[in-house]
Amino acid sequence: MLKVVRADLHIHTCLSPCADLSMSPRRIAAQAKEKSIEIIGISDHNSAENVPALIEAARPYSIKVIPGIEVTTKEEVHLLALFANLELAINFQEEIYTHLPGENDPNLFGWQIVANEKDEVLDFNPRLLLGATTLSLEETIDLIHAGGGLVIASHIDREGFSLLGQLGFIPFGLPLDALEISPRLNFEEAKKRFNYDYPLVTFSDAHKLEEIGTVTTSLLVKDLVFEEIALAIKGQAGRRILN
Ligand SMILES: [Zn+2]
Ligand SMILES: [Zn+2]
Repeated sequence: MLKVVRADLHIHTCLSPCADLSMSPRRIAAQAKEKSIEIIGISDHNSAENVPALIEAARPYSIKVIPGIEVTTKEEVHLLALFANLELAINFQEEIYTHLPGENDPNLFGWQIVANEKDEVLDFNPRLLLGATTLSLEETIDLIHAGGGLVIASHIDREGFSLLGQLGFIPFGLPLDALEISPRLNFEEAKKRFNYDYPLVTFSDAHKLEEIGTVTTSLLVKDLVFEEIALAIKGQAGRRILN
């Protein structure tokens, strides 16, 4: 039996220097519950260090957490990388860290808080998470796929840090799994305007609590597992996007 689930797969936590400090694991999980979101993707800039806490914080609500990272390529294009489990995401994070130069200046960019599921501060990430990696668009996509992940081009309708904003076009045959439309654009309008040969999804890209679940993508799946979500996004085996 297939069922419809609501997914918001692009949510930042207090680890992202640009996110609100209130974006703590417990509060994010509670807000997702409040908004009846069944699947959340945690996708901080160039890091997955708050994913373990989110998995624990979401457990009492039976909310499925998809481990993710929003990678910045050297072209300053944001790509959403989503993984089947924490281990794959952390493996990918370690690879990203070797290609991420610079140190964070909290006074300039903001704090990068690593928290636990009780919202206690464990650490401050010292890396320049807001910076670009030295990896090209193609290299990043290949690395995500090699690591078992899904690649979604972030907020393509935005001018800054998006594939279309930075390059002006989508390179022919680029092996993306989907394109994301930001909440700024009506999804119906976006479908007419971005008539590419890729599935379209829309997520909140929440940096504040109240933004979580403001836009979601409904998926027709069998279970709340990554493999089903991947099938639905790709439109395979009868699974599909319903928006
Ligand atoms: Zn982004
Ligand atoms: Zn984002």
